[in-house]
Amino acid sequence: MNQERIEHFRSILLDQLRKHTEYVREDTAAAQELNDDGVKDSVDMSLMDHNKELAFRLGERESKMVADIDQALLRIEEGTYGECARCGQPIDERRLEALPTARYDAACQTAIEAEDGEDDIATL
Ligand SMILES: [Zn+2]
Repeated sequence: MNQERIEHFRSILLDQLRKHTEYVREDTAAAQELNDDGVKDSVDMSLMDHNKELAFRLGERESKMVADIDQALLRIEEGTYGECARCGQPIDERRLEALPTARYDAACQTAIEAEDGEDDIATL
């Protein structure tokens, strides 16, 4: 992949990182707020628990996204961005456009997903 394309993906990743970092901060703040609410009414309680759980789960998912983006940016630094981490072949750029944090090409992703849950079974 040439430098121009790398810079293109780097700017996409940095943009996504900014957005997701923002979400994480908002989610954490929202969860904190719900924690400090001190609601006594039992009807409101169940709603609060639900909201708190939702905020927590969102935060968790966003944190994972941020980690994925960080990893992709690291691969840019290392010069391995756009290479499949499994077979070393270049990942299709259309795939990277759709999923800039992709670590594997489509074939390996499919193979990995097929292997999922079958770790203990020798397939060959
Ligand atoms: Zn591959």
